[in-house]
Amino acid sequence: MVTIGTPGSSSAKRVMLLGSGELGKEVAIELQRLGCEVIAVDRYADAPAMQVAHKAHVINMLDEKTLYELIRSESPDLVVPEIEAIATEALLTVEAEGTTVVPTARAANLTMNRRGIRELVASELEIRTSPYRFVESLEELTQAVTEVGLPCVVKPVMSSSGKGQSTIKDEGDIRAAWDYALAGTRGGADSLIVEGFVDFDYEITLLTIRHAGGVSFCDPIGHRQEAGDYRESWQPQPMADSVLAECQSIATRVSKALGGYGLFGMEFFIQGDTVYFSEVSPRPHDTGLVTLISQNLSEFQLHVRAILGLPIPLIQQYGPSASCPVLVRGESNAVEFVDVDQALVEPHTDLRLFGKPEVHGSRRMGVVITRRDTVEDARAAAVRLSDRVRVGPSSDVSRQSGTVLK
Ligand code: AMP
Repeated sequence: MVTIGTPGSSSAKRVMLLGSGELGKEVAIELQRLGCEVIAVDRYADAPAMQVAHKAHVINMLDEKTLYELIRSESPDLVVPEIEAIATEALLTVEAEGTTVVPTARAANLTMNRRGIRELVASELEIRTSPYRFVESLEELTQAVTEVGLPCVVKPVMSSSGKGQSTIKDEGDIRAAWDYALAGTRGGADSLIVEGFVDFDYEITLLTIRHAGGVSFCDPIGHRQEAGDYRESWQPQPMADSVLAECQSIATRVSKALGGYGLFGMEFFIQGDTVYFSEVSPRPHDTGLVTLISQNLSEFQLHVRAILGLPIPLIQQYGPSASCPVLVRGESNAVEFVDVDQALVEPHTDLRLFGKPEVHGSRRMGVVITRRDTVEDARAAAVRLSDRVRVGPSSDVSRQSGTVLK
């Protein structure tokens, strides 16, 4: 029996989001729709999810004591991490004290750092990944490059969205890759992962949901990344049934090892019939924004149903769909979007503008989502319509389409 009370009262179902970006905002909206009380937390004020939450706190979530004290003072029913950069020791402590952490504190702990999840998947579960080494110095990096082979990909163990990630094609690139990775690392750790480059045919995100009724999957989502950040996603990615079945079997094992209820974004590289596990986020995934138009229940609704213990009797895919982010580059605290109407002239098209208060460098500010007769048409429309959203002259930023600045 699932009970949900009245927000702001002693009966409220209180949910604390750690991380309040665009994915957190959609989770907050879904929680609100089910009458939960939402407490949004991030390191800066007016973050997207804060704009739709009952309450907001601005703290340094990498500080264990500060995070622990905030969770204790709010005593939510559920703590829902929405990003990786969190002092997960605080989550382990509050979970041990009886607070539910989504999906589990261990999952958040293992996935905040590429080392934890890679060792679980490759060493313990013996699932195929790219060959890899962890290194902590330029000398170790040089040695690892010879062991793993060229080309190889270098990433900080603590980073996301491609920060600090580069590909080494020959030995002359090693020094630059080291410097770039150190500049892009989060939380001050100087540990890197070196991965053999997988020359995959395509890569997918398999949204996997662990819920009260068992394990469910969304249709596979294909995506295109540039510099480690997503530029397009689409659903369904055509693939052989046997390959999809292998991905689902791996996703079931990995999500079981992480435990708890919730949605997991499982990333795979596919080369012929060979499946490589890449990584997992135990929460909604950016490439899964496409599900806002492609399914009866979006990845955000699915996550919320799972974490509240609600049933998921059916996930229905409505047809070929795609997403393309609205990226901008520059410095601004008052970005203005113009020609927004032009993005919405075609049917089966939707737009989200995230309401992010500031831009410093490159930032994802919105997304266009489309549904068409074929995946090709859906992708072309998403890119074309995303490009139509321009920025006003007073914004001090430029629109970014793929790698092309306009
Ligand atoms: P990640 O942050 O690990 O998800 O990496 C971001 C993107 O970089 C992936 O989605 C791939 O497109 C690419 N990438 C990462 N690692 C590798 C690899 N070992 N081989 C080939 N491409 C990779």
